Amino acid sequence: MTGPAPRAEIVVDLAAVRHNVRVLKDLVSVDGPVQLMTVVKADGYGHGMVEVAAAARDGGADWLGVATIEEALALRAAGDAGPLLCWLSAPGDDFAAAVAAGVEVTAYTVAELDEIAAAGPARVQLKVDTGLSRGGAPRAEWDRLFTAAAAHESAGRISVTGVWSHFAASDEPEHPANDRQEAAFRDALAAADRAGLDPEVTHLANSAAAVLRPSSHFDLVRCGIASYGLDPAPGVTPRLGLRPAMTVRARLLMSKPIDAGDGVSYGHTWVADRATSVGVVPAGYGEGIPRAAGNTASVWVGDSRRPIRGRVCMDQLVVDLHGELPPSGTEVVLFGPGDRGEPTAQDWAEAVGTISYEIVTRVGGRLTRRHV
Ligand code: PLP
Repeated sequence: MTGPAPRAEIVVDLAAVRHNVRVLKDLVSVDGPVQLMTVVKADGYGHGMVEVAAAARDGGADWLGVATIEEALALRAAGDAGPLLCWLSAPGDDFAAAVAAGVEVTAYTVAELDEIAAAGPARVQLKVDTGLSRGGAPRAEWDRLFTAAAAHESAGRISVTGVWSHFAASDEPEHPANDRQEAAFRDALAAADRAGLDPEVTHLANSAAAVLRPSSHFDLVRCGIASYGLDPAPGVTPRLGLRPAMTVRARLLMSKPIDAGDGVSYGHTWVADRATSVGVVPAGYGEGIPRAAGNTASVWVGDSRRPIRGRVCMDQLVVDLHGELPPSGTEVVLFGPGDRGEPTAQDWAEAVGTISYEIVTRVGGRLTRRHV
């Protein structure tokens, strides 16, 4: 039995994820074997971590990547048994559980390394900061970290399986930080070598670098956003034929005429300058729809884009139907792949002044999510 159609839902096209993963894998394998990690943290960028992880493996992902140990353990509990890296651990985290589950953990500091070694034998990757100034060992600490790792390795407590770093501006190919970071990463690898480490994988590239900067591929690339079919850098996605996987759709609650001079939604931030009609869409900031979409973004109703008028409310938003009165229940697509002309997550990101990552990762709340 199927229940009533949901008021509003997220539909995730897993075939699109498989396709995108395959495209990325082929792309980075052109000049030799490069492994692909699909990044599925933050509930698969809002697409559903477990389902996306399985689709990524089907599409050829060699690795999965997540931020926290909890996310990694959730993947194991769901049956994923392949290479899996997490990188947002801190002293006091449950390293023993991660190690027992065969999860590779990342150490930034000697203190973390010592804790992981105590839970060992563990497979550990070392993260170096090459210029993002976020997590990772700063250059002044590289030798100390590598020497401590080598000592633990000689004692059989850990195996250093990777050395890696993360770009700050790979979506801006001309940004001078890219060259600097890649050079710094090569310095770090040389330092690791001097300390006697011989990691199985070294990696630096995220989606944008995977696509735009082959020199940064090393042994493996970590692709998040492109796996979901979203543009890692302006204009790249269409060229690669990536397919956005997420559609957010709703059923129109009602439509009705309004008069010239009528204000719409809280604060009347939009006032009709002519007689028109409005449609009420049952999704709002309680569903992760950005409030900033009021008077900026648009949705797809029937066969055309309709602008959001006035403020986005907690449970509802209002669109201008330009005099048409479609029946309640009419499909509304907030954003989707764009094939029919509907707005994309990238369009929404541009409308509200953010990035597509934030649009897809935050959407949720009371929306049901369906994988097809
Ligand atoms: N690697 C790390 C360490 C990350 O934190 C992320 C996500 O932010 C990625 C790779 C994937 O980045 P992107 O989604 O830009 O491909």
